[in-house]
Amino acid sequence: MAAGSAIQIPTRLPLLLTHESVLLPGSTMRTSVDSPRNMQLVRSRLLKGTSLRSTIIGVIPNTSDPTSDCDDLPSLHRIGTAALAVQVVGSNWPKPHYTLLVTGLCRFQILQLLKEKPYPVAEVQQLDRLEQFTNGHKSEEELGELSEQFYKYAVQLVEMLDMSVPAVAKLRRLLDNLPREALPDILTSIIRTTNQEKLQILDAVRLEERFKMTIPLLVRQIEGLKLLQKTRKSKQDDDKRVVAIRPSRRISHGSITEDEEEEEDHDDVVMLEKKIRTSSMSEQALKVCLKEIKRLKKMPQSMPEYALTRNYLELMVELPWNKSTKDRLEIRAARIVLDNDHYAMEKLKKRVLEYLAVRQLKNNLKGPILCFVGPPGVGKTSVGRSIAKTLGREFHRIALGGVCDQSDIRGHRRTYVGSMPGRIINGLKTVGVNNPVFLLDEVDKLAKSLQGDPAAALLEVLDPEQNHSFTDHYLNVAFDLSQVLFIATANTTATIPPALLDRMEVIQVPGYTQEEKIEIAHRHLIPKQLELHGLTPQQIQIPQVTTLGIITRYTREAGVRALDRKLGAICRAVAVKVAEGQHKEAKPDRAELGEGEDCKEHITEDAKPESISDTADLALPPEMPILIDFHALKDILGPPMYDMEVSERLNQPGVAIGLAWTPLGGEIMFVEASRMDGEGQLTLTGQLGDVMKESAHLAISWLRSNAKRYRLTNASGSFDLLDNTDIHLHFPAGAVTKDGPSAGVTIVTCLASLFSGRLVCSDVAMTGEITLRGLVLPVGGIKDKVLAAHRAGLKRIILPQRNEKDLEEIAAPVRQELSFVLAACLDEVLNAAFDGGFAVKPSLEHLNSKL
Ligand code: ADP
Repeated sequence: MAAGSAIQIPTRLPLLLTHESVLLPGSTMRTSVDSPRNMQLVRSRLLKGTSLRSTIIGVIPNTSDPTSDCDDLPSLHRIGTAALAVQVVGSNWPKPHYTLLVTGLCRFQILQLLKEKPYPVAEVQQLDRLEQFTNGHKSEEELGELSEQFYKYAVQLVEMLDMSVPAVAKLRRLLDNLPREALPDILTSIIRTTNQEKLQILDAVRLEERFKMTIPLLVRQIEGLKLLQKTRKSKQDDDKRVVAIRPSRRISHGSITEDEEEEEDHDDVVMLEKKIRTSSMSEQALKVCLKEIKRLKKMPQSMPEYALTRNYLELMVELPWNKSTKDRLEIRAARIVLDNDHYAMEKLKKRVLEYLAVRQLKNNLKGPILCFVGPPGVGKTSVGRSIAKTLGREFHRIALGGVCDQSDIRGHRRTYVGSMPGRIINGLKTVGVNNPVFLLDEVDKLAKSLQGDPAAALLEVLDPEQNHSFTDHYLNVAFDLSQVLFIATANTTATIPPALLDRMEVIQVPGYTQEEKIEIAHRHLIPKQLELHGLTPQQIQIPQVTTLGIITRYTREAGVRALDRKLGAICRAVAVKVAEGQHKEAKPDRAELGEGEDCKEHITEDAKPESISDTADLALPPEMPILIDFHALKDILGPPMYDMEVSERLNQPGVAIGLAWTPLGGEIMFVEASRMDGEGQLTLTGQLGDVMKESAHLAISWLRSNAKRYRLTNASGSFDLLDNTDIHLHFPAGAVTKDGPSAGVTIVTCLASLFSGRLVCSDVAMTGEITLRGLVLPVGGIKDKVLAAHRAGLKRIILPQRNEKDLEEIAAPVRQELSFVLAACLDEVLNAAFDGGFAVKPSLEHLNSKL
C-alpha cells in the first residue's frame, strides 16, 4: 500500500482482540466491538485521541474460545496486524457496542505485554517493512519464479470474475500496480478461506513462505469457480456475479434464508413453467406464456411487474382452454326437466326445445342467441338454469345491469395498474370449462360512458362468426368462445342497442295470470320455501284462497318474485311457531302459554279452521299443521297493501282507468280531470313524457270539435269547452314517468265524463292511441295490459280493433273472465265506457262525414 510507505508504527500499541476474523495487512475489515476491554480501548484511545498515531492499534486474532471471555486476559497470539481505525460507529441497540472499520498496515510481533487493564497494551516489533513495498523491483528479483507464478494465478482468478462489477475491475488494476509482496495478504483476505488459513498466512512472516502458502489457496479458488460456472451454465442462470464475488455467501449466517427464499421462488416459477407446458392452451397463448416466463425469470421479485406477470401466467394456466363437459342432450329428457321446473310459459318452453332439438341434430351452436324479454320474476333466469341442467353444462350468470365500461366485458390492458380480465374470461375461469351456459342478465340495462360502449364489446362475444377468436385485452391472445351457450335476458327490447338486438332472437315472456301464479306457488314456490325453512307440509298448510289473497292484496306484479318473498315471510313466522311449539311440548306449562294472544289467532286444528277466532283454546300449543288463513296473513304480512280501490275512485265524473305497459309488466293507470274557471288553459301533472302531453292536446281538440254532437258543455253552458274554463289533467303515481301514445282513449273518456257529468263504468279499462279524426290506433303490450286489468279485478276492456289478434295470446281462463270491446273509433270507445252508451245526435252519426 502506497499510503503505508511512510508509516512507522509505534512501539507501544493498544491491542484489540478479534474473535470473528483475522485481519491481514492491506485489507479492510469491519468488526463489532462489544467486550469490555475492547470497548474501553475504543472509548479511551480511539474516541479521545487526536493524533494520527492514536488511531493505530494492534489487532490480535483471539484464538481462544470466545464464550470463555472472562476477566483474565487470554493467552495472546504472538503475531498481529497493526491497523488504522478508519471509522467508529456506536450503537445502543440491541446492546451497547461499536462497529470499527480497520485497515491492516503491517505485521507486528508482541515483545512484552505492558498492561492488561482497562485494555491490553504491548511493546511490539514491526515485522513487515512498509517502505520496502515501494521498492518493487528488488524484491521481485529476490523471489523470482515464485512471485511470477503467484501473479499468474492471481490474474487468472480475477479474470474469471465479472469485470463489469466495479470492484473486480479495480482489483484487476491493483494487481498490476501493487507491489507483489502485498498480494498474498490482499488476495487471501478476498478469496474464500477459513480463519485458520488466514491465521497461517498471518504467521508466515517470511515472504517466500507466504507465497508458497497462498498459491494452493488460489488454485483451490480457481477450481471452485470453474465448477460453479459450469453448474451455472447448465442452469442457464446468468447471475454469476453474485456467486462469484461472494463465494462464501452460503456459509455466512443470515444469507442462508435469503438463498432459500430465492430458491423456493425459483422452484415456483419452474413449476409454473411446467404447468404452462403441460396445459392445453393454444399455440399462440403458449408462445406468449413462454415469453413471459422467460421475462419473469430475469425479473427481481421486488419489481411490481413481477406479481403482475405471475398473476397473468397463473390465469392463463387456469383457463379451460380445452376442458369441457360432455353434453347429454336428449330432447325428451329436456322437455321433462323444463316441465318439472316451470309451470306454464308454454311458448318459451316450446322455443327452447326447438332450439335444443336443432342443436342435437346439427351439433353446433351457430344459431341465434336466445334473449328472454319480460318483466322481473317471470322465470327468465331460472329457465336459463334449467337449460344448463338439461344439457349437463355448467351455468354462470353475468349481471350486466349498470355496466358502462367496455373493459368490464373485454378486460383492461395489462399496462394498467390493477388490470384484470373481463367478465367473460373471469366467468370461464370460475366455471373451469369452455362450454358453459352463460346467462347475460339484463342486457337492456347496459349503459354507455366515456369508457366506451360495453354493448359494442358484447357484439363480438355474441357473434358466432367472430367469437371463436375473442380477444380479451388482459389476455391479449384469442380465446375460443364458440362452445359457450349464451342466453340473454332483458325487461324490454326498447333499450337494447339495435346492433345487439339484431344478433338475438327475442322470446317474450309475459307475466302470469292469477291462476298461473297460484299453480306456480303451490307446485314450486311453496315446496321450495318449506325446504328452505326446514318445514314440512305436516306443519304448515297454505290453502289456495290464501295464495290468491296474497297475490291480489299483497302483491301487484307480473312475475312471482314478490309472491315468493311473501311466502318466505309466512314460512319464517311459522318456523318460529313450530320451534316454540316443540319447546313448549317439552315442558307444557299452561300459565306460561297464556301470553302472546295475538299470535294464537291462526293456531287451529286441521279440520276446524273456524276455531281461529275461538279464544277459548288460545293457551294451547299450536296444532299441526298450522293453517294460514286471512287472519294469519294479516298477522304476518300486515294489513293488505292493495285494496280494491277501483270502484271507490270511479265514484265521481272525470276519472277513467287506462292500461299502461312498463318494463315491469302491465299496470292499470288512473286518469283524473277537473275543470275550473279560467282562460282556457290545460294543465297536466304526473310526470308525463312528450307523447303523453300530445295525446292530451289531441283528446281536448277532438272533444271540442265534437262537443255539440255529444252535447258537452262547460260550466256556463257553452259548447266551447275551454271558454272561461281551465282543465287540469292528472295522472297519479307521480313518481313514475309515464309516456307513450296508448293513453289517448282514456283521456278522451275521462274528459267526456267530466263535461257530461256522467260516471265511467267502474269495471272498465281501456287502451289505444287516437288520431285527430277520432280513430283508434293499435298499441303494444296487450297481453301484459290485459293481465294487469285482470289482476285489478276489472271486467271489461276496451281495445283498438286492430289489436284483436293479440287476444289469442291470452290464456283462455283469463279471456273467459273478461269481456273485450274492440273499438275502431272514439264513438265506440265512449259507448262502451258509459253505462247505456254515450248519446250521439242522430244527424251526426257518421264521423267521417264531418271532415
Ligand atoms: P327473472 O329472471 O325473470 O327476473 P327469476 O328467474 O329470478 O326471474 O324467477 C324468480 C323466481 O320465480 C325463481 O325462484 C323461479 O324459480 C320462480 N319462477 C318464475 N316463474 C316460474 C314458473 N313458471 N314456474 C316455476 N317457478 C317459477
